[in-house]
Amino acid sequence: DAFVVKVSKAKALNAFIVETPDHALAAAKEADAARAAGETLKPLAGVPIGMKDLFATKGFQTTAASHILEGFKPVYESTVSQRLWDAGAGMLGKLNMDQFAMGSSNETSYFGNVISPWRRGGGDNAPLAPGGSSGGSSAAIAARIVPGATGTDTGGSIRQPAAFTGISGIKPTYGRCSRWGVVAFASSLDQAGPMARSVQDCAILLENMAGFDPKDSTSLELAVPKWEASLSGSLRGKKIGIPKEYRVDGMPAEIEALWQQGVDWLKDAGAEVVEVSLPHTKYALPAYYIIAPAEASSNLARYDGVRYGLRELAEGQNLQDMYAATRAAGFGEEVKRRILIGTYVLSAGFYDAYYTQAQKVRTLIARDFENAWTYCDLLLTPTAPSAAFALGDKGDPLAMYLNDVFTVPSSLAGLPAMSVPGGLDKGGLPLGLQIIGKPLDEQGVLDAGLAIE
Ligand code: GLN
Repeated sequence: DAFVVKVSKAKALNAFIVETPDHALAAAKEADAARAAGETLKPLAGVPIGMKDLFATKGFQTTAASHILEGFKPVYESTVSQRLWDAGAGMLGKLNMDQFAMGSSNETSYFGNVISPWRRGGGDNAPLAPGGSSGGSSAAIAARIVPGATGTDTGGSIRQPAAFTGISGIKPTYGRCSRWGVVAFASSLDQAGPMARSVQDCAILLENMAGFDPKDSTSLELAVPKWEASLSGSLRGKKIGIPKEYRVDGMPAEIEALWQQGVDWLKDAGAEVVEVSLPHTKYALPAYYIIAPAEASSNLARYDGVRYGLRELAEGQNLQDMYAATRAAGFGEEVKRRILIGTYVLSAGFYDAYYTQAQKVRTLIARDFENAWTYCDLLLTPTAPSAAFALGDKGDPLAMYLNDVFTVPSSLAGLPAMSVPGGLDKGGLPLGLQIIGKPLDEQGVLDAGLAIE
């Protein structure tokens, strides 16, 4: 496209926190040896992928992009990364991200922001956010540094960065991918998933990430379907719901137009399109920004300067001083904000007013979706209310949180949801369309994604 210049300098994007070329090389050599010996190749034989720095990788620094974990080398491997290595993949590096996966722009990383490989046209050359929190993943794939990467999604962190960079990403049903060895943010919401250039690549990667794991108590005890082999762009007999509450005030006309274009593509693929209502949608964002920080404040209590990474200790200080000094120095501003919000909403005096109320809202949102499934099989919405914004543009945390308006409801309900590239805005920047499915219907989500792609 004449308006878009892709920056080719991989390093300039700051997509990786640590590069691990030897890991990828070992996988490539193993694949070569298997090929030479005439053996059947593993499904991801020799494929060099990027690993979000939220996944524990044995012997390789794992920081969640936080100073408090700097230098931490786990003595164990996350289940998801282990499955990928077992399938033959290798790791090119640990990808940059928002600190502890808190953010929508990758600007909260201790290791500096990631720069999107995209630029707006028309003389506006401001560096853009790659989305977040999986911003290293999205930038590295969009810049063609890796063919695929892992992401995690608590409230949109796979889907929104995919939309901002013109790639695909799927958050499976809560419980499909093991959370074991994934640095915890909000455990009732956290899900791993793949990001890649195509829907087919997402299906292949997801098959090699998902599966039951006895080490995660919320892991689903189900076989992994053959999503890739069953992929079909035909949506004959499928009903697609358009939730009217997602037509929010101030949404750019271009995103409205893209949404309509998406409807037409799905109709062309044989689907019937109906309008549906998800009446509690407007309460999803406030409920999420109570529940996620509440869980985060509890999960992050473990970073005490004793067990992992950083320890700040001056002579003559006691244990309490050491905790305080370590946490003050180790956590970034957004992480501290979440811990403060979380401990506040869980405090005895405010628990019922905020946390209990948010949990009730969560139930109502899940019921909205259950009700919608009596009228349709899948939902189509925009992924985000805007295209990628410029770095530094959203200094106000509330403005940043509002960018998650379309991704958070399906996270609260634990549903599978995917972002696929829909087209470009008039500045030449990618826009994403989101497909949300019933619990366990990753196949339906991927099929609709293929129909749009
Ligand atoms: N942007 C959301 C947040 O900051 C979602 C992040 C995520 O999905 N990890 O909480």
